[in-house]
Amino acid sequence: MRFSRMLSKTLRDDPPEAETASHRLLLRAGLIHQVASGVYTYLPLALRSLRKIENIIREEIDAVGGQELLMPALQPQELWEETGRREAFGDNLFSFEDRRGRPMVLAPTHEEVVTNVVKANVQSYRDLPLILYQIQTKFRDEPRPRAGLVRVREFDMKDAYSFNADDASLDESYQAMAQAYHNIFRRCGIPVLMAEADSGAIGGKDSHEFLLATETGEDTVITCSSCSYTANAEKAESNYAEVPAEPEEALEEISTPGLKTIAGLAEFLKIPESKTLKAVFYISDGAPLFVTIRGDLDVNETKLKNAIQSHDLRLAEDHEVKAAGLVAGSASAVGLSGIKHVADVSITKGNNFVVGANKADTHFKAANYPRDFKADIVADIALAQPGQLCVRCGHALESTRGVEVGHIFKLGTFFSESLGAMFLDSEGQQHPIIMGCYGIGVGRLLAAAIEQSNDEKGIVFPASIAPYQVHLVGLNLADQAVAEAADQLYKELEAGGIEVLYDDREDSAAGVKFNDADLMGLPVRLVVSPRNLKNGMAEVKGRTESEAGSVPLAGVLADVRKRLAAAAD
Ligand SMILES: [Zn+2]
Repeated sequence: MRFSRMLSKTLRDDPPEAETASHRLLLRAGLIHQVASGVYTYLPLALRSLRKIENIIREEIDAVGGQELLMPALQPQELWEETGRREAFGDNLFSFEDRRGRPMVLAPTHEEVVTNVVKANVQSYRDLPLILYQIQTKFRDEPRPRAGLVRVREFDMKDAYSFNADDASLDESYQAMAQAYHNIFRRCGIPVLMAEADSGAIGGKDSHEFLLATETGEDTVITCSSCSYTANAEKAESNYAEVPAEPEEALEEISTPGLKTIAGLAEFLKIPESKTLKAVFYISDGAPLFVTIRGDLDVNETKLKNAIQSHDLRLAEDHEVKAAGLVAGSASAVGLSGIKHVADVSITKGNNFVVGANKADTHFKAANYPRDFKADIVADIALAQPGQLCVRCGHALESTRGVEVGHIFKLGTFFSESLGAMFLDSEGQQHPIIMGCYGIGVGRLLAAAIEQSNDEKGIVFPASIAPYQVHLVGLNLADQAVAEAADQLYKELEAGGIEVLYDDREDSAAGVKFNDADLMGLPVRLVVSPRNLKNGMAEVKGRTESEAGSVPLAGVLADVRKRLAAAAD
């Protein structure tokens, strides 16, 4: 490719809207162009990378027996109503009516359609197991698109689905896909954490996320450096110090003027926060919800949602707290009635807690469960935090930020039962097919690779997914001899099967060309200039090498091949 003919231009300055390194570099190096919030055009350079990522994905999923198909983005909404997911997806689902008034959706995922495909083609246990996959465009009306290709509303995904006759077979498919995922991320130059993840409300079992650790990630991962326990914060379990039990004391009102926070209360009373209980107010599926948790802990909203099977959970606003008759800063479950009450198990670990007295500037001393208050549900709804203890080995937990690049999930029989996808076993008995699903965001994977691999000058593309392998820079191309030598080298490399971006611009200064080469981050930079041509040489430099070397023009192709082979190991 001749640079002078290339569609996209590099930007000299950082785009102000860019939130992360990958967002900034994707824009500056001319890889993407924004059409609307969370909607992008992949420019030619990005598309070349994406095609390479897709091929790596295909090779690895094919290697574990995956069969590729292609399903439509446009689907009847009816199909989503059959599984109840029209409601579950809510406003995230793009939906509209076709010209006949039939409700349609643009699909964010394909469990419904693929289950029907399998239902029509599988009768017997002999037809199983199956792994089906596609690389296809998805739609999700995200409330807050962000970070370039990280959170978008139209995106390309590799989604795979496994179909098995029993749990042992599902385990095999799941393990094979997990290994394929490890291979894919390694080949794309992305080191990942595999974290236990929440399996959601639809009754799945195991679920794991693959995350790139990065400060700009929106997920929190809890890790144990001693036993390698790794879990998304939404899912992570932890142990925390239990408060020694004491003889129960009498419930007693105390005056706490102006004290509305747990920290302030604990300081004023000279007690640890673990001797207090805090109240948190939510609106769950439209109704107020009262939550109690020990003062030193925080609520994990995912665990809370799962515990009460809530579709839509959010913190209550001030006016809703007031309307429910609650006194913010001094509320507690003591005397509470008419509101659903969920308590964390921590209320049972300790006693004689200080709690709100449901009137301003007043608390109770020595509230005890269940003597002084009851809960509709007591469940583990606490957020695991760094410094708490690993449930497996007791070591102190740590936390790190990450961006999710893949997710695998044992679905069980939710979809096959909803849609009637059954098989006959060897005795002629009918059973629902057991399913798993497996996703990788292809565009997000490109963003993650750039997020992982860049420096102050620009992108450092892993050779496996670089748009081109070689950035050939011709300097002083007005000099006929140089132009001829550079053109000749360009042709030779291309004939040798090397992908070359040839900076043939006559009117650009050397500094501009070198800056662009660093910004675009191709693995090998070659320079043909009057100075090195005098000796029949070209200059060669790897993107991360600080010093350039010289190679005779006749030996350039062999040198490039050697470098690319080394990068592929
Ligand atoms: Zn551990």
